[in-house]
Amino acid sequence: MKIEKRKKLKELYSQYEKDVAEFKRSAACVKCCADCCIDVGNIDITTLEGIIIHDRVATFEEPLKSEIRARLAQNKMQREKGRLSRCAFLKADKTCMIYDIRPFSCRWLYSVKKCDGASPTIHRKAINLAKQTVKKIQQLDPSGYSGHISYILFLLDKEEFRKLYLHGKFKPQKIADFGRNHGILINRFVLL
Ligand code: SF4
Ligand code: SF4
Repeated sequence: MKIEKRKKLKELYSQYEKDVAEFKRSAACVKCCADCCIDVGNIDITTLEGIIIHDRVATFEEPLKSEIRARLAQNKMQREKGRLSRCAFLKADKTCMIYDIRPFSCRWLYSVKKCDGASPTIHRKAINLAKQTVKKIQQLDPSGYSGHISYILFLLDKEEFRKLYLHGKFKPQKIADFGRNHGILINRFVLL
């Protein structure tokens, strides 16, 4: 499903990396520096990115698979209470369990100064390029949605929603209440 879109998504990720390479050269980010995965990050994803993560989680062995589902449910609860929490995919050694397929929210973020609990310091031009890329990713998949990672993965875990989405059906009324209460965006209404 959506093989072509998955390919284009990767191309958008690569293009962004090329566009901001000169800025990222001064980044202070290093492996295992993960404030942005614990309490600074505000990880929103699209359903296209979500289905890639959903498929990966489905390949995890037990008890990891159940543990990740429990962590995602906890993330969702915390988010509903307006609290930020540790990403479900952050390992104990502070590396990312899904690094190769991490969503764009995790790809564009960097900081020229160590965050140490503060907000990251990012070049304005890179932020603008990231915003444009987010819109391109959303428009790549007009029958999809965008929202917090725990909300999108919650939706994709529901068979009825997943089937509709995978078949390219556009029925936002099916998730109207959840969408309204959880700030879910409908991709096709995002303007460039
Ligand atoms: S954005 Fe900040 S917390 Fe995240 S890796 Fe870079 S320096 Fe570390
Ligand atoms: S998906 Fe990976 S990179 Fe993104 S917030 Fe979670 S642990 Fe960090």
